[in-house]
Amino acid sequence: MRLSVLVVRVITASVLAVNVAASQAPGVSATAAPPTAHEVKSLHITVLSTMLADAGIGEWGFAALVEVDGHRLLFDTGARPETVLQNARDLGIDLSNVTDVVLSHHHADHTGGLLTLRRELAKGNATAVSRIHVAPGVFLSRRRAKGDQEANPMIALKPLVEAAGSIFIEHREPAELVPGVWLTGPVPRRHAERNWPAGVSIVTAAGLVPDTLPEDMSLVIRTEKGLVVVTGCGHAGVINTVEYAQDIAGHQPAYAVVGGLHLFAATDETLAWTAQRLHDAGLQYLLGAHCTGIEAVFRIRQLAGLSRRSAVVAAVGSSFDSARGIDPLALAQ
Ligand SMILES: [Zn+2]
Ligand SMILES: [Zn+2]
Repeated sequence: MRLSVLVVRVITASVLAVNVAASQAPGVSATAAPPTAHEVKSLHITVLSTMLADAGIGEWGFAALVEVDGHRLLFDTGARPETVLQNARDLGIDLSNVTDVVLSHHHADHTGGLLTLRRELAKGNATAVSRIHVAPGVFLSRRRAKGDQEANPMIALKPLVEAAGSIFIEHREPAELVPGVWLTGPVPRRHAERNWPAGVSIVTAAGLVPDTLPEDMSLVIRTEKGLVVVTGCGHAGVINTVEYAQDIAGHQPAYAVVGGLHLFAATDETLAWTAQRLHDAGLQYLLGAHCTGIEAVFRIRQLAGLSRRSAVVAAVGSSFDSARGIDPLALAQ
């Protein structure tokens, strides 16, 4: 209990510190990457879990395989234990040499496949799915109502995943996982985006406090065309995330966003604000998966000046490639 409270305070303090630094010195970031930051040569992102499916199984969840200059990372693991494993097989994708997995946050629709992936893939390669990257807050106790049972699946999952031979690596700050690829760590909430589900609380010594998903983090890849941001559920807010990505990886256009933006129930006003900010950030491609919402993808397409080729509802197996753009597959083309 005490440890949980300490973690919450540390997160709050570090996020506040970034906010204070940003407000005292506009345009100057404490985490600005050097202008010579590494640019990746090739990038290919394949969606392995989302609602729409041309091939494989659709579900309320998210996962994507990120392939960068010969490195392969799994970003989130879908909802059902078997979905990502089976979808990868259906798509002819071998995940057995993927050693590193990023969990964007604790929700079951992003973490449900982790244990099955480790157990199954480790049969062929002992290092498969062995390093799990998370941010502080991912193991905090949650409740849907006072006196209710534990609402954070990561608490039961952690010892099982560790017993299966994997380790969790916590990132309090941005980290360059491979050259040109950064994890954001916890994202400062500069704008009042409230893209998280209501009604869930974090358990602290002082009682229940609303769960704002303090651990929510994204992946940022710097290419010669600009930054590509991969989000899980986007609970930190896509604009907060994109702006922080630019602080971390260099003030380049954020030319592509891939993943869930949690805008499915957003108001017209919120969608217009978000689309304008994405346009201003240089957005050229949106592969809107999972909780982005179908209507939200169409609205952002229209409001940010994109087309049916460049703003697409993601399907299982759909992809974004730094050279070829989006391959939507058949149904969402
Ligand atoms: Zn979520
Ligand atoms: Zn989600």
